[in-house]
Amino acid sequence: MEFLDVKIEAYSLAHSQPESDILKKINRETYAKVLMPRMLSGHLQGNVLSMLSKMIQPKQILEIGTYTGYSAICLAQGLQEGGKLHTIDINEELENMVRGFIKEAGMDNKINYYIGNALTIIPSINETFDIVFIDADKKNYSNYYDLVFDKVQNGGYIIADNVLWSGKVLDDIKKMDDETKAIDAFNKKVNADARVENMLLPVRDGLMIARKK
Ligand code: SAH
Ligand code: CA
Repeated sequence: MEFLDVKIEAYSLAHSQPESDILKKINRETYAKVLMPRMLSGHLQGNVLSMLSKMIQPKQILEIGTYTGYSAICLAQGLQEGGKLHTIDINEELENMVRGFIKEAGMDNKINYYIGNALTIIPSINETFDIVFIDADKKNYSNYYDLVFDKVQNGGYIIADNVLWSGKVLDDIKKMDDETKAIDAFNKKVNADARVENMLLPVRDGLMIARKK
């Protein structure tokens, strides 16, 4: 399901900063060589993430779900001098490719890349974050939220991707598959959490943005 009219999206992209050479390369190689390339953020969402990060000017970012590194490189563009983005992925098969892309982007010194299960790696990273980007397995969104909450700075942001799940969150709850149920439950949990201000931004597949008070 496309949420945005195709021509409107094309016009919007034609009037936004173009994809950099390295992001174009990640896009191309992901579609040529990697399973499920639709998971990559892409030009529109990449620009959204990069611009949000530049507005927030974070010192520390945590990303859960690196995939081929597209969103990591976009988010890292807003880091303060000396800041770091920590990104975790369980898929070790992508490691060499991703390390190559990070190097080519000139972000070796800004990005710490961890291979393993985010549920076990998150507690081992001793940092407080200004942005957490949740984009790994959908069933664990609520667990990731709980796990990172105390590590988010007051006034910091938790951003979660794919919270509209191609529109499946609109289905009757009895017909939802487990992933859709988990995403819907996550959206309701964040929305009911008095510790944050939140909005669901209907860009691409939906971004939940929560600001810790
Ligand atoms: N953020 C990327 C896309 C991420 S796709 C982008 O926007 O371009 C989701 C990723 O989550 C996949 O690469 C998958 O391997 C990873 N993942 C799934 N379960 C995980 C887990 N338990 N811990 C860490 N990563 C996980
Ligand atoms: Ca995603």
